[in-house]
Amino acid sequence: MSLRIFETDPDAKPKTRNTFADDIVGRFRSGILIGRRPQALSEWRVTTDDPDVADRMAELYGGTPEEWDTEKSDNVQVLTETKSVSVAIEGASALRTRMALYGQAGPIHICDGAFFIEGHPADDEIGEACGCPRELTKRKEQAKSGRGPKPDISLRFRLTDDPEIGLFLFSSGSWSLVNDLPELERALSAADGPVKADLKLTFVEYDTKAGRHVEYHRPEITIKGAA
Ligand SMILES: [Zn+2]
Repeated sequence: MSLRIFETDPDAKPKTRNTFADDIVGRFRSGILIGRRPQALSEWRVTTDDPDVADRMAELYGGTPEEWDTEKSDNVQVLTETKSVSVAIEGASALRTRMALYGQAGPIHICDGAFFIEGHPADDEIGEACGCPRELTKRKEQAKSGRGPKPDISLRFRLTDDPEIGLFLFSSGSWSLVNDLPELERALSAADGPVKADLKLTFVEYDTKAGRHVEYHRPEITIKGAA
């Protein structure tokens, strides 16, 4: 005998899990929280729940495994000394790009910039116009003030330095990375098999018209050819 509560209220049935992040052994991160403030890093930070993976990251890329404060399972981090790692990407399905706005209890607005897509919490709205503005500057304004979604880009890959260790995930909300996506998507779908790429943190600096000096690190994915 099984419970009938979902037959009487199908909307309450748990949604199938998003499996994009399943089976990964660690995450490459381009930032860190200092107190409650996110700070961009100039070298990759790797988090994992597996001490052996942490040891291997330190061996390959420098740094020391240490525990960090998180409620998630990947509670070991390595602040590496490496700006660029060579990766192998399985194909187009290893890259997930979408726009996402999260609230306290989970996703509120998941879209492709124009329409609600899979992962959006209201099933009956999927495929419908999401109402995001057309202009990039307005999208950025709304995202900044927490009223609209920001980029939610995830890439699954293996490290060419140690492919056997398993799959890693890199997730980013970088608007700069969004500019690279068309070329990246084209290269991944044109490739016949896995492709090799560099996953980099690149230093950017410039002066605004108003004379303000801006510098930051941005994630960059550069395709190198067949893996
Ligand atoms: Zn939208």
